[in-house]
Amino acid sequence: MAIYLNGKAASQSIKDEVRERVSALKEKGTDVALAVILVGDDPASRIYVNNKQKACDYTGIGSFTYELPEDTGEEELLRLIEQLNDTDSVSGILVQMPLPAGIDENAVINAIDPLKDVDGFHPLNIGKMFTGDDALISCTPAGIMELLKRNGVEIEGKECVIVGRSNNVSKPLAILMLRENATVTICHSKTKDLKKVCKKADILITAIGKPGFFGRDSIKKGAVIVDVGINRDDSGKLRGDVDHEAVDDMVSYITPVPGGVGPMTVAMLMKNCVDAAERKR
Ligand code: NDP
Repeated sequence: MAIYLNGKAASQSIKDEVRERVSALKEKGTDVALAVILVGDDPASRIYVNNKQKACDYTGIGSFTYELPEDTGEEELLRLIEQLNDTDSVSGILVQMPLPAGIDENAVINAIDPLKDVDGFHPLNIGKMFTGDDALISCTPAGIMELLKRNGVEIEGKECVIVGRSNNVSKPLAILMLRENATVTICHSKTKDLKKVCKKADILITAIGKPGFFGRDSIKKGAVIVDVGINRDDSGKLRGDVDHEAVDDMVSYITPVPGGVGPMTVAMLMKNCVDAAERKR
C-alpha cells in the first residue's frame, strides 16, 4: 500500500509558520500584503483568486484584489503594475494567468518588480534559481520540493523523470531537483518510448493534464509518484495524470489528487509573500 503525501497537512503547517512570521513582522511595524490582479471573467481563475484570498485571511497577509474587465488593454494593466511596484505597503504582486488574448503575458511578467514577483515567473528570479542564488521560486515546483522534504523522501542520487516541460511547473522543477542532486530527465509529447523512460524513475513527476494516463506499465516498483495533473474526468470528478487505483500497491509514496500538490501551491505563495516582505525589511 502506498503512503499518501498529504499536501493538505503540509500546507496547513506552512500557513501556520507564515502566520507566525507575519505576526512577528507586524510587531516590528511591517505589514505584509499581496496584490492580485484578475483580468476578465474566467471561472477557474476566479476560484484560484478566492482561494488565495482565503489563505491571506488565514495567515494575516493583507490582500488587495483588482478585478479588471475582459477588454482591459495591455497599457492599462502595465500602468497598474507600475503603480503597485511603487506602493510600499504591497509586498507581493500576482497577475492571475491566463490573460485575455491580446495581452502579452511576457510583457506583464517582465513589468513586475522582481522583488515583488511572488509567482517567481520574472526572468531575473528564474535566472537566480538556475544559479542557486536567493530568489522567489515558482509556487508549484517549490511546493513539490517542500512536500517531498517534509515527508523525508530522499532525492539525492535518485533517477527523477518529469513528464511535461511547462515554464511554470516542469522546467523550474527540473532545476530544483538537480539542485538536490537528483539525476533528471525531462519528457514531453515528442519523447520516444515514454513508458520505458518513466519505468526507470525512482521519482516520477507527471504534469501533462491527461486523466489517468500513467498506469502500471509506466511505473517502477517502489517509485515515488508526484501527480501534478488536475483534470476533470467525464463524470466531473477531479483526477490526476496517474491511474491511482491501478498503481497503489506498487509505489512507495504518491501525492493524492485532490489534496496533494494543489494545496502546496497556495501555501508557497503565502511563504513567498512573507519572504518578500522580510527581504525588503
Ligand atoms: P501544460 O499544460 O502547459 O503542458 C503540458 C505538458 O505535457 C507539455 O509539455 C506537453 O508536451 C506534455 N504532454 C502532453 N501530452 C503528453 C503526452 N501524451 N506524453 C508526454 N507529454 C505530454 O503544463 P502545466 O505544467 O501547466 O500543467 C500540467 C498539469 O498540471 C495540468 O493538469 C494542470 O492543471 C496541472 N497543474 C497543477 C498545478 C497544481 O497546483 N497542482 C499547478 C499548475 C498546473 P509538449 O511540450 O511537447 O506539448
